[in-house]
Amino acid sequence: MPDQYAVIGNPVAHSQSPLIHAEFARQTGQDLVYGRLLAPRDAFAATANAFRAGGGRGLNVTLPFKGEAFRYAAFLSERASAAQAVNTLKFERGVIFGDNTDGVGLVGDLTRNLAFAVNGQRVLLLGAGGAARGVVGPLLEQQPAQFVLANRTLDKAQHLALSFGGALEAGTYAALAGRQFDLVINATSASLAGELPPLPPGVFARGALAYDMMYGKGETPFLAFARGAGAALLADGLGMLVEQAAESFLVWRGVRPDSASVLQQLRQTRDA
Ligand code: NDP
Repeated sequence: MPDQYAVIGNPVAHSQSPLIHAEFARQTGQDLVYGRLLAPRDAFAATANAFRAGGGRGLNVTLPFKGEAFRYAAFLSERASAAQAVNTLKFERGVIFGDNTDGVGLVGDLTRNLAFAVNGQRVLLLGAGGAARGVVGPLLEQQPAQFVLANRTLDKAQHLALSFGGALEAGTYAALAGRQFDLVINATSASLAGELPPLPPGVFARGALAYDMMYGKGETPFLAFARGAGAALLADGLGMLVEQAAESFLVWRGVRPDSASVLQQLRQTRDA
């Protein structure tokens, strides 16, 4: 029987992860199956436990469970520990290991696929949920000139900034008025609901890249807004999705798949 993996979340039907991991498995000759696992909002641990009991070897974790997955894991990688959020669970010899590949995925997409150097740039990150937590450490490692985090619920942003020793500035959306950034990353789940974070239009500096972690067919509300507000470059989260998946695959299987060819295939299928 092939090894079993899945993406767990709520909602999860939109996830492209099963397609990506099936292609990685084909490419690398690994014997595995990868599905979608919808967990009730109040039953993450019970759903993950049932998957493990059925022989499951690993899970990708998507919203809103990255914080719960962090508490669920018995052992953590350094990057998951710093993020206090887990997007990759590995089950091996009765041990639950938690990792976070979101940040490596985002930075890989920015620097390799989009050829955008974060170093020395003014960076604005929107949102303070599980996805935002995962990317703060790897973005800080790129040494941006400024790093600001804005969130609807201010104390969540402040808490996140504090957990990284105050290395980034936390604030509200209203406090962004009059400021400009070279890279604006939407790590909120607003696009999923067809909504837009309350962003002042002047935040995009000349030549700015607007990056929405959300991906799908058509432009997200955030990217449509960014286009209208003068952002020079627009990117959705499909590249990050493929890059974080490749890193999770490496964690589980010890082999790194070729992410660039899979990203190209997904973009072709989507845009066809
Ligand atoms: P969480 O549920 O953990 O966090 C949601 C965040 O969005 C919170 O900060 C919340 O603010 C904010 N938010 C929700 N609605 C609005 C709104 N209308 N206006 C402003 N802020 C809002 O979700 P995750 O962090 O796990 O995921 C966030 C997004 O990132 C999702 O769309 C997910 O699909 C995407 N993602 C993509 C990845 C990829 O590989 N491309 C990887 C990981 C995530 P508040 O705190 O005030 O409630």
